[in-house]
Amino acid sequence: MPTATLFNYTFSLTQPNPDAHVPATIRKLVIVGGGSAGWMAAMMLADALLPKGIEIEVLESPVVGIIGVGEGSTPWLRGFFDKLGIEEAEWMPACNATYKCGITFDRWSTKPGFESYFHPFASMLDNLTMTQFVHNVNARVAGADVHAHPNRFFIASTLADQNLAPKPNRNFPFDVWYGYHFDAVLLGQFLQKKAIARGVKYTSCHVKEVRQDERGDIAAVVTDSGETIAADFFVDCTGFAGLLIQQALKTPFVSYSSNLFNDAAVAMPTPIGDDIPSQTVSTAMRHGWSWKIPLTERFGNGYVYSSAFCSADEAERELREHLGLLDSPTPARHLKMKIGRVTKHWHRNCLAVGLSQGFIEPLEATALLFIQHTLSNFVEFVEAGDLGETAQDRYNQRVNEHFEGTRDYIVTHYKTNNRTDTEYWRANASNANLSEPLQELFRMWLSGRSIVPEVTKQTLGRGYPVFSWYCILAGMGIFPDPESLRAPTKKEARYKMSEIDNLLQRSALNFRKQKELLADIPRKTPEEALQIYFW
Ligand SMILES: Cc1cc2nc3c(=O)[nH]c(=O)nc-3n(C[C@H](O)[C@H](O)[C@H](O)COP(=O)(O)OP(=O)(O)OC[C@H]3O[C@@H](n4cnc5c(N)ncnc54)[C@H](O)[C@@H]3O)c2cc1C
Repeated sequence: MPTATLFNYTFSLTQPNPDAHVPATIRKLVIVGGGSAGWMAAMMLADALLPKGIEIEVLESPVVGIIGVGEGSTPWLRGFFDKLGIEEAEWMPACNATYKCGITFDRWSTKPGFESYFHPFASMLDNLTMTQFVHNVNARVAGADVHAHPNRFFIASTLADQNLAPKPNRNFPFDVWYGYHFDAVLLGQFLQKKAIARGVKYTSCHVKEVRQDERGDIAAVVTDSGETIAADFFVDCTGFAGLLIQQALKTPFVSYSSNLFNDAAVAMPTPIGDDIPSQTVSTAMRHGWSWKIPLTERFGNGYVYSSAFCSADEAERELREHLGLLDSPTPARHLKMKIGRVTKHWHRNCLAVGLSQGFIEPLEATALLFIQHTLSNFVEFVEAGDLGETAQDRYNQRVNEHFEGTRDYIVTHYKTNNRTDTEYWRANASNANLSEPLQELFRMWLSGRSIVPEVTKQTLGRGYPVFSWYCILAGMGIFPDPESLRAPTKKEARYKMSEIDNLLQRSALNFRKQKELLADIPRKTPEEALQIYFW
C-alpha cells in the first residue's frame, strides 16, 4: 500500500556555520541588481559572510526598474525571515502582507466534481487525514466510487474556504505551514533598508560593461559614469537580462518553451473587499490563467498567457472582462517572460540568482523559493571551503534538479487539463514533450501502481513532495470515468467523510478571520524594529 509523506525537506534554512572557513580568495562580493533577488541575496549573504569580514556591495541601476510583480510565496519565505531574525510584526505591515494557506485552481478541469481544487500547504494535522486521502485516491484509481477530491481532507483548504488565517490559537497543538502574499515593490524596499542597516554597501549605478580577466573570470564591472568596480565574486541579480551570467559569461540557456507555453503577462490591481481571503486563486482563461492575490490594501491580478496563441490586446481585454474592468481607466502593465534556466547557475566566479538564472512561470509562486534555495546551497558550499570545479558541478546539478522537478509539476497542471474550448488548451493536453520521469509517473498512476518511488527517486521529488502530486492528480480528476466506477468494497469504503469533515470543522474553530488577525498584529515602525534588532 503506497503512502504519501508530507515533507520531503526540512523547513528551516541551513544555519551559518561558525567554524566555517570561507576561502581567502573571496574578500569582496558584488551583487548587481536590486530587485527581490538582489536584496534577498544581500540579506542571506550578509548573514553568512559579513561576520567573516567579507565586504558586500549591491549595485542597482537607476534606469532599469525591477519587475515589480511576484506577490505570492511558498512556506519557505517564513524560514527566510525567521532565520534573519525579522518578525512578522515588522515586515508584514511594511509590505501589506497577508497569510496564504495555498492556491485554488479554478476551471482547469471540466470533469464534473473536479472543476476546482485546492493545493494546500501542509500541516501536522494533515497526518490525521493523509492516510484516508491516499486510501480513497488509490481506491478510486482502482475503480471504486469513493470520495477522493483533495479539498475535504486538508485543514488548509478548510481555512482558505472560510477566509481564516493559518495561525492557530495558542492552545492548538499542531503546527500549520503557511506562505504569504505581499507587495513586491515594498518587499524590495524593506529588504534594502535592512541590508544597508546590517552593513551591506549600496551604490546606485548602471553597469554598462563586464570585464573578464585572462582566464575568463569576471574581474570588474564598469558603470556608465566610468567607474570600475572590482570584486572577487559577483552575483548576477539583473533579472531577465542576465547581464553577467548570460551576456558576459555566455552560459547556455535551456528553454522550457516546448512544454511550458506561457511567455507573457498582463497585470492590474482591484480593490480589496471587507473580508481578506487567505488563498491565491488561479483561474484558467482562454489562453492561460489569471491570478488573484489578496494584499491588505488591494488585490493583485494578472493574466499569464502564451503570445503564440493570443495578442497582448486580447489578453488585456479578457482580463478586464474577467475582473469587471472593461470600461475602467485602471492601467494595465504588460510583461514578457523568458521561461527556462541557465545550465550553470554558478559559473566561474559568478552566481546567478533570481530571473537571471531562470524562471518557471508563476503558477505555483516558486520563484522566491528558488532564490532562497540557490543562495542557501551556495552558502553551504562556501562554508565548506569548496569553490572548485567539482563543487560547482555538484552545486549546479542540485539546483538544476530543483528546477526540473518543479517544472514537471507545473507541466502537470497543463498536461492533465481536459478543456477543449481553445487551441491553447488542446495543444497543452496533447503536448508530448514530457520528461521521462513525468511520463513514468503518469504511467504508474494510470495503471494503479504507486507513484511514490517515482517521486522520491527521481527529480520529481526535488520539486514537490508526494502529497502535492497526489493533490494535483486527484484534484484534476485523473480517475476512471464516473460511469465505469463500481460500488466500493467494505475495505475501500472504510473511512467516513463525515468524520473527516467534523475533525476539520472543529479544528477550524481555533483559527481567526485573516482580516481580524492582521488588524491585531502589533505594528512597529522600521525605526523601532531596527532598534530592537541592534539591541
Ligand atoms: C508575471 C509574473 C508573476 C510572478 N509572480 C511571482 C509570484 O507570485 N511569486 C514568486 O515568488 N515570484 C513571482 N514572479 C517572479 C518574481 O517576480 C521574481 O523572481 C523576483 O521579483 C526576482 O526578480 P529579480 O530580482 O531577479 O529581477 P528584477 O526585479 O527584474 O530586478 C532586476 C534588477 O537588476 C537591476 N539591473 C538590471 N540591469 C542592470 C544594469 N545594467 N546595471 C545595474 N543594475 C541593473 C535593475 O535595476 C533591478 O534592480 C513573477 C514573475 C512574473 C514575470
